[in-house]
Amino acid sequence: MLLSLTTTHQPATDLGFLLHKNPDRVQSFELSFGRALVFYPEATAERCTVALQVEVDPVALVRDRRGPGGAEGLLDQYVNDRPYTASSFLSVAMGQVFRSALSGLCKDRPGLVGDPIPLRACLPVLPCRGGESFLRPLFEPLGYRVEVTRLPLDERFPEWGESPYYSVALEQLIPLKDLLAHLYVLIPVLDDDKHYWVGQDEIEKLLRRGEGWLAQHPEREQITHRYLKRQRSLTRDALERLCFEDGEDPDQVQNAQEATEARLEASLSLNERRIQTVAELIVQSGAKRVVDLGCGEGRLLQALMKAGSFDELLGIDVSCRALGIAHKRLHLDELPHKWQGKVQVAQGALTYRDDRVKGVDAAAVVEVIEHMEADRLEAFEQALFGCARPRMVVLTTPNAEYNVRFLNLVPGRLRHDDHRFEWSRAEFRAWAQGVAERNEYEVEFSPIGAEDPEVGAPTQLAIFSRS
Ligand code: SAH
Repeated sequence: MLLSLTTTHQPATDLGFLLHKNPDRVQSFELSFGRALVFYPEATAERCTVALQVEVDPVALVRDRRGPGGAEGLLDQYVNDRPYTASSFLSVAMGQVFRSALSGLCKDRPGLVGDPIPLRACLPVLPCRGGESFLRPLFEPLGYRVEVTRLPLDERFPEWGESPYYSVALEQLIPLKDLLAHLYVLIPVLDDDKHYWVGQDEIEKLLRRGEGWLAQHPEREQITHRYLKRQRSLTRDALERLCFEDGEDPDQVQNAQEATEARLEASLSLNERRIQTVAELIVQSGAKRVVDLGCGEGRLLQALMKAGSFDELLGIDVSCRALGIAHKRLHLDELPHKWQGKVQVAQGALTYRDDRVKGVDAAAVVEVIEHMEADRLEAFEQALFGCARPRMVVLTTPNAEYNVRFLNLVPGRLRHDDHRFEWSRAEFRAWAQGVAERNEYEVEFSPIGAEDPEVGAPTQLAIFSRS
C-alpha cells in the first residue's frame, strides 16, 4: 500500500525536515506486521514528493493471530486485500514512521510546523465503504479539494465492473501535521475494518489525533463510530468527551432504544405505559418548565404536549440521530401557535452540568441511567441533583429481577446491548435513597407494569421531590 505526499512549498525539500526523513536516502522500518519504506521519487527545490510504502506480510499476520481463527476464513487469511490497500495498517505505519511529524515536532524547521504549505496527498488504492458519497463529506469540510476515481475490478475485463477501491488525491494549503492527523484518523474510517482489537486507549488516540478538528466535523458521529469499530459504548464515551473539549456542542451516538429491548417489552407495551405514567406525574405536579433528560426520539415530550400546557419543554440527549427523529416527531419546524418558542430539543450529556437544566420544575430521566457506566453515575447525580436541583425528578430503570419472565431473553443477558447494568429492586432503592439523602430530596417508589409476586414489576420508577 502506498501513500505519497507532494509539496511545492519553497524550498520543497523542507518536507524532509518536517518528516525527519532525509530525501537522499531510502529508509526501511520494521513493523510488527511487515515493513515500511520511505523514499522520495522527486526532491527538488521546486517540488518534493515523499512516498510511504507499507508491505504487509499476510503469513506473519496469521502466525501472530492469537486464539482460534475459525475455519471459514482459512483462505481469506492468506489471500486478501490487506497488503495492497490503504487501511489501519497504513495508519499504524504513519504513527511509527512519521511520529514526530504527526506530533508537530521539528527541530530544524520549528517555524514551519504550524505553517500551511501546499500539499497533495495521493492514495492510489483506498477502500471506501460507503463510496464517494461517504468520502467527500469526510474530507471536503476539512477544506480539501478531492479528486476521486473508482478503480475497475480488473482493467483487462471492464465487463466485471467496478471494485470497492478508489484512487484518491487530496489537496490543500495546510500544515503537514494536520494533514497527517486527518489521514491517520480517516483512512481506517473509510476502510472500516481495523486489524486490531479496539479498546479504551483507542479513544485517547482518536482524541489526540482529532484535536482541533474532529469536534466540529459534521460527520464526527460516523467518524467516531467507525474509528472505534462500531462499539457503541466506546463511541459514546468518545463523543461525550469530544463535545466537552469543543466547549458547548455536546455530542451524540446512535443509540435509540434498540430492537431487542423493544421486542422484549412489546407484549407489555411497557414503553407506552412508562411514558404515560411519567407524563401524568409531571402534569399532576403542576410543573411549568420541564426537561426530559435522555429524551431519545421525543416520545415523552410528545405525550406531555398532548397532556398539558407548559411554559418550556426541553429534551436533551447525547444522540444526534435520536434528536433528529424527535425534531420530526414533534414537528418543531412548524409548531402550532400554542407551542411556539416553548418546545426544544438539544444535544447534551447528562454527566455534565448544564445551565439549560438549572431551575426547571421537573426533570424526567426515563430508561437512561442504565446506559451510563456505573462510575459516571456520581457525575450525573452531581449535575442533576447537586447542581440543577429541579423540584421534582421522575426516573425509571429496568428491574433486573423481572428479566427471568422474558421468555426470549437468554438468562443472564441484559435487555439491551447498550445497557451497562440492570438493577434489582434492592439495588435501585439503595442508590435512589442514597441520592435523596446526599442531596436533600424525598424519594418514593412506584413500579410500572403488572407486578409479579416473586420478581416485581418490569420497570422501576422513583419520584424525587424537594421542598
Ligand atoms: N427516554 C427515552 C429514551 C431512552 S433510551 C425513552 O424512554 O424513550 C436512552 C437514551 O439516553 C438514548 O437516547 C441515549 O442517547 C441517551 N443517553 C444515554 N446516555 C446519555 C448521556 N450520558 N447523556 C445524554 N444522553 C444519554
